Formats: sequence, structure tokens, C-alpha cells
Amino acid sequence: MRDTIIIGAGPAGISASLYAKRAGLDVLVLYKDDGTLEKVHKIDNYYAVPGVSGDELAKIGRKQAEDLGIDIKKEEVVEIEYDYENNFFTVKADKRYQAKSIILATGTSRNTLRIQGLKELEGKGISYCAVCDAFFYRNKDVAIIGSGKYAINEINHLKNVVKSVVLLTEGGTPPETRGDVEVITKKVAKFEGKEKVEDIVFEDNSKRKVDGVFIALGTAGANDFGKKLGLNIKNNNIIINENMQTSMKGIFACGDCTGGLLQISKAVYEGAKARIICN
Ligand SMILES: Cc1cc2nc3c(=O)[nH]c(=O)nc-3n(C[C@H](O)[C@H](O)[C@H](O)COP(=O)(O)OP(=O)(O)OC[C@H]3O[C@@H](n4cnc5c(N)ncnc54)[C@H](O)[C@@H]3O)c2cc1C
Repeated sequence: MRDTIIIGAGPAGISASLYAKRAGLDVLVLYKDDGTLEKVHKIDNYYAVPGVSGDELAKIGRKQAEDLGIDIKKEEVVEIEYDYENNFFTVKADKRYQAKSIILATGTSRNTLRIQGLKELEGKGISYCAVCDAFFYRNKDVAIIGSGKYAINEINHLKNVVKSVVLLTEGGTPPETRGDVEVITKKVAKFEGKEKVEDIVFEDNSKRKVDGVFIALGTAGANDFGKKLGLNIKNNNIIINENMQTSMKGIFACGDCTGGLLQISKAVYEGAKARIICN
């Protein structure tokens, strides 16, 4: 049982980990990749490192944390569960980890899907949370959009409840399944339905009848975890108070995932503050 698990090793996550470790907390950082910094060619507006590249800054940050003895593991997180009886969190990555608190530092969502009919049918058969909504699709036919570990995790929540699941990869490489899930790789053109989603129309004009569609694109971010845990979210940003605390006790958020100024300095500041309060 860790004191805190930080999801994300960008400026926000690493900053939070430095403060947490130096305060004597048992901290674990889980990250998938260099996040937004992967896209940053040159940074000229952050203190003391003019001209540094995003890659370089990410490496320096991780090394600083590792040199301090912080446990950092490169593992994608697919789910966070809360045990209401015993008040602890379980984080599902390659392995399962437990902690008394969580700091979400996953950056902004990179998962956008622009398909005709999507917005109109959200909540009318189009869902973003298998664990929350699987029950409504007992013995029904559903589709799931995605092609990564997160999509597989969502399928596992659906498989035992629904009649059939088809995985739509939107042109992405199908993930390894045990062969028990039908996979369609062609792209979706639109969702159709009056009161609720009824058909998926593909770019080649073929159709597939479904009762529900679950979106699990790319990597799960703070919003995906937040929706499942019931956190307050507005305009795709996790709502926090001045102490970086979300609407759920024990969960903090910092950096780009809380919105506002999307800059390294703000991510570092919020990371430092999130740690102080979870102590
Ligand atoms: C092109 C571009 C140029 C920019 N230039 C500047 C600049 O010059 N100056 C400046 O101050 N800012 C700049 N920014 C913004 C800056 O990069 C971000 O504000 C900053 O990186 C946010 O830090 P963060 O820690 O919140 O998120 P990120 O840096 O995005 O880090 C997110 C972390 O979360 C991890 N993660 C996400 N999901 C999961 C998951 N499911 N499981 C495990 N790990 C996960 C990622 O792997 C990553 O480690 C730029 C951004 C872009 C896109």
C-alpha cells in the first residue's frame, strides 16, 4: 500500500513526486510516454533552461526523481478503482497497485473522435464508461471504438454482460485479443439513430446494427478516470479546489488536465501543491 500513486511523469507528475518523496511519502509514479513534451521542439519560456527540447526536459525530470529514489514505472494505467469499505485505491496497469491517494497528472486528453452523429447520440447509446453502463446492455449487441490496452480493458467489463462485442479500430492495428472478439478495422463514417444509436455506417457505406457504442480511444486520461469515479469535470477539465483536490476525497489533479494555462510552469506549481495537501 503506497501513500500515493501519481499517474503521469510530465512536469506536473514529476514535480508532485519530488515534493511527496522529500516529505517522506511512499510514492509510485506510473507513466506511458513523454506526454505533451514529446511534441515540444524547443522551450524558451521556462526558468533556467532556455532552448531545451521537450524530450530533454522530460529525461532530466525523470532522472532527478529517480536520483532521489522515487519509484517510476513505465506502465499504462487503464483503470482506477476505489474500495469504499476500506478507503483505498487500486490502480490497474501492467500490474495492480494500491494507494491511499491518487494524483492525476495525465496532461490534456489526446483522444478526439469527430464522427457525424457522435455528439447528438452521446448518452443515447453512446457511452464512455463500460464499467458504469455495461448493465444497460445486458444481452445486447455493442461496439467498442479503440485499439489499445484501454479498449481491451473496457471489453473485459462488457464481455460477460452483453450478447456480442465488436471492436472497431478506426484503421488502427488490432490489439491482441484471445480471438474471442470480432474486429473491424475500417473507419466509421457516422452513427445513425433517432431516439438512440441504431446503426454504425462505415466509410464504404456498409452498416452494422448495434444497441450501444462504447468509446475507448487511445490511452485513458484524467477525464476517463474522472468520469468513472464520478469526479466533477467541466469543459473536459478536472475541477479542483485551491488545494488541487478533486470532488472525491483522496484524488488530486494537477497540470494540463485541470485546464487553465497549459504551460510547464503552471504544471510544476500545481504538482508541488497537490503533494502538500495529500500528506
Ligand atoms: C507543441 C507544443 C509546444 C509547447 N511549448 C511550450 C513552451 O514553450 N513552454 C511551456 O511552458 N509549455 C509548452 N507547451 C505545453 C506543455 O508541454 C504542457 O503544459 C506540459 O507538458 C503539461 O504538463 P503535464 O505534466 O500536465 O502533462 P504532460 O506533459 O502531457 O504529461 C502527461 C503524463 O501523463 C502520462 N499519462 C497519460 N495518460 C496515462 C495513462 N493512462 N497511464 C500512464 N501514464 C499516462 C504521460 O505518459 C505523461 O507522462 C507546449 C505544448 C505543445 C503541444
